[in-house]
Amino acid sequence: MNVLDQYVGCSDCMHECCVRDALDACFASWPNHSWVAFHCLNCDGVNRLEVRNGAIAEGYLDGAPAPCFIIKRRVRLDDFHIKAANNGISVRTLNLRWFIPQLSGGK
Ligand SMILES: [Zn+2]
Repeated sequence: MNVLDQYVGCSDCMHECCVRDALDACFASWPNHSWVAFHCLNCDGVNRLEVRNGAIAEGYLDGAPAPCFIIKRRVRLDDFHIKAANNGISVRTLNLRWFIPQLSGGK
């Protein structure tokens, strides 16, 4: 199971894309929570994912002022490595690599 044959869905329009395409569309990360956000390729809606070593989870943020991540579905990924830094999250899997910057000034 890897980023090419596993899918995540958009919570707005239900469009599904493979995990690789979702990671390509990521524009923000929250390194201290291991969250990333991507724009749906179909409707441009914002979706959040939790990234961990060996897994990614679909979900959404709930609660204020300290939102927590409600997991809808967890997808196991082989050889999937996450490294959080103060300025973003790097993801490494297969021969692919992403760096998703922390959203500056936002939450
Ligand atoms: Zn969508």
